[in-house]
Amino acid sequence: MKKRREIVCKRFEELIPAFLEDRLNDAAAEDFLSHFDSCRSCREELSIQYLVYAGLPKLETGETFHLNRELAETITAARERILRRKKLGFCAYSMEILTIVAVGISAALMVFFF
Ligand SMILES: [Zn+2]
Repeated sequence: MKKRREIVCKRFEELIPAFLEDRLNDAAAEDFLSHFDSCRSCREELSIQYLVYAGLPKLETGETFHLNRELAETITAARERILRRKKLGFCAYSMEILTIVAVGISAALMVFFF
């Protein structure tokens, strides 16, 4: 069990840059976030990398930077993005089903009337 956890954590670490640059696909981002929720050491790792990724450039230009708040916002934004795309996917899927049903009904009507 411990071994598996280490592998998951290692993978998480590798994905951090991709996550911060929004280069993960939805499935990968979801896995990433669910591990983020469940693993304390990876949460710490992400905040360190986030500090380097987003914090240092800001500090150099003299802007204020609130690590925890901005990281929380980044996480929330990522979750919303995934959710929104999921909803869109679901809509497209429902439309497809509706079309199939509509075609089916008109075919049945044709058979019935002609
Ligand atoms: Zn972990």
